[in-house]
Amino acid sequence: MDKVIGIDVGGTSIKVGLFSPKGELLEERKIPTPALVDEDAYRVVTDGLVRILTAHDSVPEDVIACGLDIPGPVADDGTVGFLPNIQLDAEGLVHAISAALPSATIAFVNDANAAALGELWAGVAHGASSFVLIALGTGVGAGVVVNRRLVAGAFGAGGEIGHITVNKGETRTCGCGRKGCLEQYASAKGVVRMYLEECEAHGVTPVHVEHATDTLSVFRALAAGDDCAKIAVDKMCDYLAFAMAQVSCVVDPAMFLLGGGVAGAFATFAPELRRRFQQYALPTCKDVAIEAASLGNQAAMYGCAYEALRLRAESLGQPLPAAAVVAEQQ
Ligand SMILES: [Zn+2]
Repeated sequence: MDKVIGIDVGGTSIKVGLFSPKGELLEERKIPTPALVDEDAYRVVTDGLVRILTAHDSVPEDVIACGLDIPGPVADDGTVGFLPNIQLDAEGLVHAISAALPSATIAFVNDANAAALGELWAGVAHGASSFVLIALGTGVGAGVVVNRRLVAGAFGAGGEIGHITVNKGETRTCGCGRKGCLEQYASAKGVVRMYLEECEAHGVTPVHVEHATDTLSVFRALAAGDDCAKIAVDKMCDYLAFAMAQVSCVVDPAMFLLGGGVAGAFATFAPELRRRFQQYALPTCKDVAIEAASLGNQAAMYGCAYEALRLRAESLGQPLPAAAVVAEQQ
């Protein structure tokens, strides 16, 4: 039986998903790994893959596609760019996986882009032709899908919505080296920072926040009627809606999906976000659906598997197998 694998590549571990070609997740397993830069480390990966396959009465030859999602840029042609957060020899790892899975088409996908493809394959965007996923986490990642294809870009920066400039007057510098990026206001770090700033400006003692990305405490404060939390979350919605309105002018998606940790509070901020989007958007596209993503932290694992499967189908001139099931809401 044909199998498909999706691998979330992290700094100290990988998360492996074994799928049917129709997108049913058969098993998910986390494997601790050393830095993926030498043969010993690649063997930890390939041995782990073989163990999972064996547990499902499968052999490596059954795997027809294997996708890897990584926290960094991947261009349209599959070239991996600079990875600031993990150590990875992409070429060496692909070589080792190709040797271990001789029938598999292998693909690298940026993690936010992969999350978008996951939602297309088995999530809430199933059936949508064009949509944009924005992941509000430690940073702000995004994936743009047009005509059911990812827009990765010539340099792998396609869909870097987190680095759209939304405030030319900002003096603080973003992680990308520029100033006034959406990520500075709509990431978990941005929301917590804006909350603490509002408290200071109003001479109010803030609620206790556990760490620099503890948006949970900010949203709890908001629910309890904290005015500074309301100002901070409204600002987040404002910058986010403003950026989404610009994206709509280029992509005109059928839907925006909000994912990532901050989107855990989607129900709380969605009405304000929709209201502000309507204010900023071109009238033609102001009624776009704005919904929560559905696959949680499994989305990228689904999506990189899907992209490898799609590449295989394309190279063979075959249609892509339709997803049999839409995964349960996470
Ligand atoms: Zn930036």
